[in-house]
This record gives sequence, structure tokens and C-alpha cells, in this order.
Amino acid sequence: MKELLDRLIEKNKVLVKQGKIANYIPLLGNANPKDLGICVIDSLGNLYSSGIYDKKFTIQSISKVIALMLAIMDHGEEEVFLKVGMESIDEPFNSLYKLDLPHGHKPANPMINAGAIVTTSLIRGNGDEKLNRLLEILRKITNNENINYSKEVYQSEKTTGDRNRAIAFLLKSKGLIDGEIEEVLDIYFKQCSIEVDCQDIAKIGIFLANKGRVLDTGEKLVDNRTISTLMAIMTTCGMYDFSGEYAIKVGIPSKSGVSGGILASVPNKYGIGVYGPALDKHGNSVAGYGILKDLSQELELSIFV
Ligand code: GLN
Repeated sequence: MKELLDRLIEKNKVLVKQGKIANYIPLLGNANPKDLGICVIDSLGNLYSSGIYDKKFTIQSISKVIALMLAIMDHGEEEVFLKVGMESIDEPFNSLYKLDLPHGHKPANPMINAGAIVTTSLIRGNGDEKLNRLLEILRKITNNENINYSKEVYQSEKTTGDRNRAIAFLLKSKGLIDGEIEEVLDIYFKQCSIEVDCQDIAKIGIFLANKGRVLDTGEKLVDNRTISTLMAIMTTCGMYDFSGEYAIKVGIPSKSGVSGGILASVPNKYGIGVYGPALDKHGNSVAGYGILKDLSQELELSIFV
């Protein structure tokens, strides 16, 4: 496995030139576009890494999977999906115009910003309690006590997050979020700013692959039904408006983030964390996609095979 990963990093490294770093959140602009790393963990706990795999990056939209998980744990699936849809869309992750169409009653799915702001608002707790619950469960899943958010990235998001602010106002006017808008956004920005590395992401992947059981402790945190829902949503919506092609070419439930991370989870087999901050036009890591496509083909990891 280690040799395979080294070979695929080497092969896909050239792709980084085709991508661009996201800089609409100014602090993300500091990343090195040439970085590419991967970490794979199997269900026995064997860990394989290659490339720039131990650099820290912010989790960004990958946090949307954990926010959805907590919202379902707190309210049940039925109640959550009254306020957010289950459908994939062919629009950018930060789009809001469909939300304002007469029939666009609720956000299409919980993996785009509008849907994630709803699920974050549904996490039980006041103010930072929501964030602390998110951090706590992430620390358990990754067996990494040091997981925390970056105050700098959080500030950077908060001062430039007017698009998310507009989305939140629209959501509130439709009765889809309760409470103070700035308070909900504050948690959303902090959750996106949580710092992780490829190993942490791979641990989330193997946690999902093992149906909600923590790899290091064996503790079962989430029921099977919720995990199936998360995996289905990741498969259909996890790569934004590229999710359909990604399902065909890679076929692994995955979720990307705008700082260049990709979480991939092969049921019962592998958790995978990839980092490559150069992004394609959909906001997905361009070389990260390349390496996952190759890995899926070489090891026949597609859930559709
Ligand atoms: N914090 C980012 C935003 O809200 C997350 C988006 C992403 O990772 N695609 O714009």
C-alpha cells in the first residue's frame, strides 16, 4: 500500500498546476498550492501515508458531515430533513439564488453552505456549547485531544463571510433557522476553521466505514441508520456540483472542503484523508480527486463495482 500511495502521489503531483488556492477566505490564500498528501487507514488500524500528509489545514466543508450527524442524533432524521433537502444540485456550494425561488422552500442538501448553516443551527446547546460538542465528538473519533479551531481562520471567515450572512438571513426569513443569526454563523465559521491533518480525516473515514465505531477505542457512537444516511448524502452531494461525475469515476462516499481536504470512506474497508489545496472550478482538490480516482481503480474501491 505504501508503495502504491508513493507512486500515485508522484503521478498526480503534476495536476496541482491546474488548480487554484481558494482565497475568498483570505487566510486560506497562505497555503502552498504544490502540497499533496494522503493517509489511508484500514479496518485493522494499519496506517499508510505519503506526500505532505502531516500538514495542518482547516476542515472547512468536511465539518458538514459531522454537523449533520449531530443534528440527526439530536433531532432524528425526519425532523432534520423537514428543514433541509436530500437532493444534489448543479450549482456552486455557496449559491443562494434557488433558495429564494418560490418553490425553493429549503436548501437542497446539508453539504452546501445553506444546508449546513441549517444543520449547525440544529445542534443542541447554546452558543459555544454546539461547537464544544462538535469538537468533543471529533476528538473521540480521531483519538486526538488536540483538535481545536484556528482563531485566525475563524476571524478571516467572519470578516469576509457576507455571502454566508446573506444565506443565513434568507434562511431565517423562511423560518428555517431559529435564534440570533450572528450566533449561528459564529458556530458555522468556527466549525469550518477546525484544524486537522490527513490522519485525522482518515480516522473520520474509518469511523464511518466501521458504521460509527471509533477505531482506537471500539466505542460505538452512532447508529447504523444514521451512518447509512451520511454515506448516501456524501455519495450524492459530497463533492458539490461534481458529485455525479465523481460517483462514476471514483465511487467512494466522500466530502471535500475548500482548503483542499477530501474525506473518503470505503464501507468496511478504508478511511482516507487527502490534502491538496489547489482546487478545481467546483472547489474540490484537483490532485486529490486525481489520486482518489487512481486509488479507486487500482484497488477496485468503488461501491458501485
Ligand atoms: N467556510 C467555507 C464557506 O463557508 C466552507 C466552504 C467549503 O469548504 N466549500 O464558504
